Parts: sequence; C-alpha cells; structure tokens
Amino acid sequence: MQELHDAPLAPLTTFRLGGPADRLVTATSDDEVIAAVREADDSGTPLLLIGGGSNLVVGDKGFAGTALVVATRGFTLDGTLLELAAGEVWSDAVARTVEAGLAGVECLAGIPGSAGATPIQNVGAYGQEVSSTITEVVAYDRTTRERVTLTNEQCAFSYRHSRFKADPERYVVLRVRYRLEDAGGLSAPLKYAETARALGVEPGDRVPLDAARDTVLKLRAGKGMVLDPEDHDTWSAGSFFTNPILTDTAFAAFHARVRERLGDGVLPPAYPAGEGHTKTSAAWLIDKAGFAKGYGTGPARISTKHTLALTNRGAATTEDLLALAREVVAGVHEAFGVTLVNEPVTVGVSL
Ligand SMILES: Cc1cc2nc3c(=O)[nH]c(=O)nc-3n(C[C@H](O)[C@H](O)[C@H](O)COP(=O)(O)OP(=O)(O)OC[C@H]3O[C@@H](n4cnc5c(N)ncnc54)[C@H](O)[C@@H]3O)c2cc1C
Repeated sequence: MQELHDAPLAPLTTFRLGGPADRLVTATSDDEVIAAVREADDSGTPLLLIGGGSNLVVGDKGFAGTALVVATRGFTLDGTLLELAAGEVWSDAVARTVEAGLAGVECLAGIPGSAGATPIQNVGAYGQEVSSTITEVVAYDRTTRERVTLTNEQCAFSYRHSRFKADPERYVVLRVRYRLEDAGGLSAPLKYAETARALGVEPGDRVPLDAARDTVLKLRAGKGMVLDPEDHDTWSAGSFFTNPILTDTAFAAFHARVRERLGDGVLPPAYPAGEGHTKTSAAWLIDKAGFAKGYGTGPARISTKHTLALTNRGAATTEDLLALAREVVAGVHEAFGVTLVNEPVTVGVSL
C-alpha cells in the first residue's frame, strides 16, 4: 500500500483541480482497500474514495483526511458473466467485452474512470446504463464492517443515481458483476436516435459490436467527451449538470416560461421519465438561457464542443469553476424557473 502526505489531488482528477489531501493512500487489493477504510474509520479520519477522478470537484483547500485511491485490478469473464475489480479502467474493460463479442456495454465506450464508480451514478450514455447489465455489487459496508453483496434491486438505481450516491459514507465498492449478452457479435438494440442515424440504421436495430463502439467513440470525441490531455475541452467531468426531471405541473410551468421567452412555436425537449414526470435537456436550457458553447472569458469556460461540459482551460481554480457553474445555474433559473443540479461529486465545496 503506497502512502503520501500533503499530496496534491489535482493530478488525480480530470478537471486537474483541487488542493492537497493530508494523506493519500493507494490500495491495490480488496484487502488493502478494506484495511485502509477500517483504519480511517477507527481513527475517525474523514475518507475520500477516488477511482479515476473523472466525476470529482475537489475544493482548492483540498481534503483534511485520507484520500484512498482504489487501484485494484481484475477482469474475469465466465460465459456472459463479467466481474470487474473496482479499480479496473472502465473504457478498457468495455473494449475487451467488445473483443469478446459480448453486448450490453458497447455504447458506454469512452467513459473515463473506474469500474467501481459505474454503479455510483448509474453511468449511462447513448441509450445504455449500467443498471441494465449489473447483477451484483460486492462492497465493504462501513456501518456493519462487513463485505456485502448487493443485488441489482438493492442498488436502487435510477437516472444518474443509486443507493451508493444516496448514502455516500456507507459503501466502498470492491467488485461489480455484469450480465452481458451473446448476440452473435451484434450489439444490443440501439436505443439512441443519434447513434442509429450515424450508423445508417433505425433505433431498435442491432449492428456489429465494434461498429457500435467506434461510432459512439467518434460521436463522443466530437463533443469533447473522450479524454485527451492536449485538449482543454476534455479537462472536465463530462456533463456538469444532470437533465432535470420535472413533475407534470412543474413541466407545464416551464413550458409556459419557454413560450413567453422564445415564442409559441418553440417546444422544449421532453422525454417520459416515469408516471407524472418528464425529463428535459440541461444542454438545451443552458444554450437557450444564453450560454453558448465556449461561453466565458476566464480560466474556466463552457466547452467549445458541448454546452453541458464546464472546463478548466489550464489555469483555473476550483473557485473559478464554481463561479461559472453558479452563473449558469442562476441564468437558467432566471430564464426558465428550473434549477440545475450538478452531476459530479463535490468535495469540501458546494454550488
Ligand atoms: C470527458 C468525460 C466524459 C464523461 N462522460 C460520461 C458519460 O457519458 N456518462 C456518465 O455517466 N458519466 C460520464 N462522465 C463522468 C465520469 O466519468 C463517471 O461518473 C465515472 O463513472 C466516474 O468514475 P471515476 O472512477 O473517475 O470516479 P471518481 O471521480 O473517482 O469518483 C466519483 C464518485 O464515486 C466515488 N467512488 C469512486 N470509486 C468508488 C468505490 N470503489 N467505491 C465507492 N465509491 C467510489 C467517489 O468517492 C466519488 O464520490 C464523464 C467524465 C468525463 C471527464
């Protein structure tokens, strides 16, 4: 187990932001992870779990406690059942499942970070979410101090949410199990219109697995959603805001504001989101509230490729980023009466 003191956290995050941790520990086996967590809990030391740091906004003051990097490795395929150690690099694991001819996560290619973080916010993109393939999550329960196995149902997955996100101090994910599909080398039915269009097929069709993965990677790269150290548009946490889910009443009020501001002919994006609820698009709201791609003049700006990604242009602080995020939240609220919520996890700061 590697241990450093007063260690900068910025290099461990894709934003490249945040001050130092009092103590930084890197664990490479499940037993090391559990030992480090128990040690922190026994001494009452605050604990921050870090995978790939691609969904973290760490405050400029850093973290007064132990930051634990989960760097375990393990990729096991047994028929269509896949088990990943929490520290496995997610995008590499996806590439291997595609090579193995198995469907179910091919549209989640190019998402940075670790396998262990995928259940935390029920990672999703291009019509797939890990909640559709995860069968079990093996975790260390900090309350009972035991290893537990949670079924898919017990994970309480919903849009960019789970039991783990709801109760962030309780579970340390050690292993994630997924059930994939052998469709003879074909992808799962494509759910996302943009992917189907790019492939020249209809939503619901299947295509060769590598074609689905390659197309998603191309679409993502065009939006700055594939990590590239040379490209400041990817110094981000991907989407900074979740798509708002509104009750029917709230959606009607929002629609009225849209008509008032943009005219009768303009229809806001609306997707069914369970009984009595509608999901709309955060990117649309941000754009229509006057924040275009590339917005900003400071060291933190909106991505030049995607309205939903806030980015560090190289010299930003976390405070610069938060100032921009607050400006966007206030602007959207003022324009449409909808409050955007941040998707990345904040450490020592809030919006
Ligand atoms: C360019 C870019 C594109 C992205 N695109 C997408 C996308 O399309 N869809 C999407 O859903 N997300 C996307 N993201 C967000 C991010 O990649 C995912 O949320 C990813 O799963 C985070 O993984 P991570 O290992 O980097 O987590 P981290 O950022 O290290 O941690 C995130 C949270 O999970 C906790 N955590 C980490 N590991 C564990 C563990 N083992 N046990 C318990 N808690 C843990 C952390 O404490 C923290 O609260 C994108 C990010 C970037 C930078």
